[in-house]
Amino acid sequence: MPWESGSDHTSGGRLPIMSTRRAARDHSQSAPIDPCVKTDMSAAIETKDVVVVGAGVAGMAAALGFAHAGLQVALVGPAPRVFARSAAAPFDERIYALAPSSIALFGRLRVWPHVDAARMQAVARMRVFGDAGDELDFDAYGAAVERLATIGEEAELLRVLTAACAFAAGLDREIASFVSMRVEGGDARVDLAGGRTIGARLVVAADGAGSAVRAAAGISAEEHVYGQTAVVANFRAQRAHDGTAFQWFTAEGVVALLPLPDHAGEPAVSLVWSAPAELATKLLELESDDLARRVTARTAAMLGDLSPLGRARGFPLRQLKVARLVGPRVALVGDAAHVVHPLAGQGLNLGLADVSELVAVTAGREVFRDTGDPVILRRYARRRAEPIGLMRMTTDGLARLFEVDDPIARRLRNGGMALVNQIGPLKRALIRHALG
Ligand SMILES: Cc1cc2nc3c(=O)[nH]c(=O)nc-3n(C[C@H](O)[C@H](O)[C@H](O)COP(=O)(O)OP(=O)(O)OC[C@H]3O[C@@H](n4cnc5c(N)ncnc54)[C@H](O)[C@@H]3O)c2cc1C
Repeated sequence: MPWESGSDHTSGGRLPIMSTRRAARDHSQSAPIDPCVKTDMSAAIETKDVVVVGAGVAGMAAALGFAHAGLQVALVGPAPRVFARSAAAPFDERIYALAPSSIALFGRLRVWPHVDAARMQAVARMRVFGDAGDELDFDAYGAAVERLATIGEEAELLRVLTAACAFAAGLDREIASFVSMRVEGGDARVDLAGGRTIGARLVVAADGAGSAVRAAAGISAEEHVYGQTAVVANFRAQRAHDGTAFQWFTAEGVVALLPLPDHAGEPAVSLVWSAPAELATKLLELESDDLARRVTARTAAMLGDLSPLGRARGFPLRQLKVARLVGPRVALVGDAAHVVHPLAGQGLNLGLADVSELVAVTAGREVFRDTGDPVILRRYARRRAEPIGLMRMTTDGLARLFEVDDPIARRLRNGGMALVNQIGPLKRALIRHALG
């Protein structure tokens, strides 16, 4: 997973929301089994409409969506991080630019009203600079939308989703790691660390880029390593950002400064610098103040002098393309289904769009089909193939175009940027695409 989680995958256990039925079953599982006595083990295994593996943002959103559709759901994953926070707490360095489509999903899941609005920042404008001084400028006003995106912390999303999952009817939280699965007697059997097995009509893999569910389902994934590492850190800025997100395509990689809500009354920004691996190592070795000076210089002091707000972290970048989005009784969502370069800030948005679509096709299925019916899974795969392919091509194309350091490529990319900036309809089409 690109933004690694602070929790471990080995623990077995459960949150204390437990049905009586499950308590009885647990007791029977811990009792010794006499091999001479014929026991129908399948009778002891509870079968859920959906088992979602992975309690990251995509997994929790999926589990909530299925539960709201009236299905019996188990959400499997290690214990959540503890989110003790005060209004003055520094910002998590894991920041997402959320597309309006993602916020609409959080709205339908009834979690968005519980997000702390003071920790969210609207993006009203975006300025993109090429390496020959050309600029592409988008704004919400020109696109006739209220905002281009909303910047928010992963921790805040996980906090509200964790609370909502704890209260959702029909949703059991299993604090355990997924170990293996098999399709047996028409259903899937999911084995968890600690020895428990749950039956499932549908298993949703939301367990990130290294998905164990995907591997267990025999779905292969092709990886392209970019040889770049995203250096991520938050800074205090000298000048107000006015809700503008900045991005520079440079010979040293793609540098983005995303606007954050003010910190202690002062403007703040989040850096995502997708740098060649060697340079990233050097940047991550710098003292925080030296890194701040380096970023100030790299961004032409657009927001004045920057000063550090916490430590920097590095995330090696890669692209992941899966052979199939579905398998028998399995559907992939989020980073388990695709990993794209973060230069467009769209990975999670793409994953949440998978969740929306999978919940919609499942909830809208014919009465005679169950949740893991191959027809439903094919519908999901068909509807997601194009948006995922398009996003992969766009982000990969841009990442590679700006990787090449020759004069022709430089002229092409900067000329293209200047052209897009002048052609209103093309620019609006690009914005509409980015808004999701
Ligand atoms: C530098 C950077 C910047 C980014 N910026 C943006 C952005 O601005 N906007 C955007 O939309 N996207 C962005 N992304 C992409 C985004 O981070 C990912 O797409 C997103 O985190 C994927 O979420 P997920 O829930 O699918 O997977 P993950 O966040 O990887 O979650 C997977 C979950 O599964 C659990 N898990 C793993 N193995 C098991 C197991 N065996 N059993 C049970 N549970 C398991 C993990 O503990 C975790 O909770 C960025 C990525 C990077 C690297």
